[in-house]
Amino acid sequence: MAVFAERIAAMGTENAFKIGEDVAKAQKRGVDVIRFTLGEPDFDTADHIKQAGVDAILAGNTHYTDPAGIKPLRNAVAAHIGKTRGLDVDPDQVIVLTGGKPAIGFAMMSYVNPGDEVIYPSPGFPIYESWVTYLGGKPVPLVLREENNFAFTPEELEPMLTPRTKILMLCSPSNPTGGVLSREVLEGVADVVRRKGPPDLRVYSDEIYEHITFDGFEHFSIASAPGMRERTIIASGHSKGFAMTGWRLGWAVLPNKEEASLFKQLNINTVSCVPPFIQEAAREALESPKTAEVVAGMVSEFKKRRDYVVPALNDIPGIRCNKPLGAFYVFPNVGGATAAVGAEDFYNGLKDEQKARTSPATLFQRFLIYCHGVALVDRRSFGVLKSEGQHFLRLSYATGMDTIQEGVARIRKGASDSAGFEKFTADRDALGV
Ligand code: PMP
Repeated sequence: MAVFAERIAAMGTENAFKIGEDVAKAQKRGVDVIRFTLGEPDFDTADHIKQAGVDAILAGNTHYTDPAGIKPLRNAVAAHIGKTRGLDVDPDQVIVLTGGKPAIGFAMMSYVNPGDEVIYPSPGFPIYESWVTYLGGKPVPLVLREENNFAFTPEELEPMLTPRTKILMLCSPSNPTGGVLSREVLEGVADVVRRKGPPDLRVYSDEIYEHITFDGFEHFSIASAPGMRERTIIASGHSKGFAMTGWRLGWAVLPNKEEASLFKQLNINTVSCVPPFIQEAAREALESPKTAEVVAGMVSEFKKRRDYVVPALNDIPGIRCNKPLGAFYVFPNVGGATAAVGAEDFYNGLKDEQKARTSPATLFQRFLIYCHGVALVDRRSFGVLKSEGQHFLRLSYATGMDTIQEGVARIRKGASDSAGFEKFTADRDALGV
């Protein structure tokens, strides 16, 4: 009998966390590594939010809560949805979760039978594909194209919908590209879903970057389109917009109370509830008039960095980078650089089973970590299916400007270092193939 259950082999992971192992190895070899890998704001949580958490602890608010979440926080989320999406939500449709992530697995467990199809963006947050394969669903990647600024069109989606489509995953603003879906696109998507989607289809709208948009782009939720409220799960949380990643606070708004009660049951079966003092801080974040200014300050800092990093990357021969309208990522095409340093030729010479574990962009990414001291995340980390031939890396600019400048200078050096890459190909451990 094997130790592990068979199904666990089908589960993926989030490499942004795992790359830490390579960074640590490189550091042990004496390389100083700049990290562009982390998907979290480098800002501290605002004081008024922290204080609300501390006050709650000192007041003895340290017991189990309603597994759905404390009512004042669910009220605050419902009010936020009313204000930002124009939707009238019953607080009993809201479930408070330990971060933005659990809602993804909860939705897959609640709606997807083996063989059911799940359409999800690729590149996209890797946890989507991970849960689909884990549950025996059929992953249907919707490829986001660079020339479309990493959005997609309703026309591209339409032929992908079948009678077995169970969930359509959307993410705007997007991890990993920073791309956004405009109101016009989302209204077109809603139209396709209404016309062609099976009646039980649910749209999972990951809106965790809702607060982080630039150049006047206004976040829009597909749930606000006619007929979509009843079939959309809005998932968001405090990690990104309020710089609260370590607090582990997210929430989902379900299409109705019945579906919300399933998420509550999943909370009961896993974490019981989110700690009450965390929920109090989360309520404060949503309700305090001080929060808007803090968020605006952070977003304006992100914008400055984006405005530096995009032209700086475009100035590197072999790299091309779109200007995203949201989140804190850029997703440069490094195809020219992978060819110039010899990563593409080297990849083409690998055996098939080695090829299955890597890509030219992955080799280049590892080369940058081990030989040039700068860590990014490769395209394959955002969905393996349909990633072939796509030469992209994700750069998170949620780090200080000086670090960004130094990191980009290191990428520039690496992008033309063919002699260094040649040497690197002898380093089997660092190559990872
Ligand atoms: N969705 C997306 C698109 C994300 O990028 C992330 C975090 N990287 C999450 C969900 C999960 O957020 P949390 O850390 O709150 O679980």
